[in-house]
Amino acid sequence: MFTQKTWFASTPTQVGNLRYSRQGCLRYDGGPAHASCFDDAMKRLEKNKGSYHGETIDVGRIQREIRIAAQAFGWVEDCFLQADDLALSAYRRAAGSGQGKRLYLSAGIHGDEPAGPLAVLDLLQRNWWPDDVGVWLVPCLNPTGFQLNRRENSSGIDLNRDYRNPVSREVQSHLRWIGQQPSFDLALILHEDWEANGYYVYEVNPDERVSPAESILKNVAQVCPIEFAETVDNWEARGGIIRPKLLPGDRPKWPEAVYLITTKTRHSFTLEAPSDFPLDVRVRAHVTAVDTVLQSLHSA
Ligand SMILES: [Zn+2]
Repeated sequence: MFTQKTWFASTPTQVGNLRYSRQGCLRYDGGPAHASCFDDAMKRLEKNKGSYHGETIDVGRIQREIRIAAQAFGWVEDCFLQADDLALSAYRRAAGSGQGKRLYLSAGIHGDEPAGPLAVLDLLQRNWWPDDVGVWLVPCLNPTGFQLNRRENSSGIDLNRDYRNPVSREVQSHLRWIGQQPSFDLALILHEDWEANGYYVYEVNPDERVSPAESILKNVAQVCPIEFAETVDNWEARGGIIRPKLLPGDRPKWPEAVYLITTKTRHSFTLEAPSDFPLDVRVRAHVTAVDTVLQSLHSA
């Protein structure tokens, strides 16, 4: 059920702006002429320097497609912010048994990182979720940033530094909603990094629980290069895995991951796709990583 073969077989022919070729290779529809075979797709594009200059998404359309897929497959929608210029929703899917593990999954907090919301859309449309895993999903926290193809929201706030003393509407409303939810066994946060030479993850696991980190990297390596640098963003890295020492009290500005680890979970992964690679490769990498975590929760 989790093999690469099945992934292709169950993949819809159209996900957002992604179109799938007959051979199972992926192409971005409407962008530059990306390679349509695996080998070429594994090379850097060498065009993202100084910031992200890659494909953008019609975020309103992606949000609508996410809602349609979620409604079609019975997810509960919580619209936690509704304003004239901004609407944010989360989606919940209970474990079939009522006793299952709880996974939190969020994406799209940086408006120049489109692979996260597209991966969420792909996962929803594919609709494969283990019966014994409940999922709390926040598919796109920063739609106004996506409209501008920039990291911050339209007011210039980096939402992923706003979780300690929040001033943005997005984070304030997100915190109100998440405060009403149960704790999670594991949290996944989907990001992208235009400087990276491959996929990497931050793992926060203070209780040293059994970890799927190595499995994530092993499986993602089948579809996307891995970042093998020994230092990433000033953190020590090994095989694409960074295990930062978080000292929340010392940090004046909290990212979502620090809020989560202090309040809602004891195990989180921030997943970073390399955005100087084709968008389809990054989406596949995120989907593969989420699949690996679902598998680990399912069999735990
Ligand atoms: Zn990011």
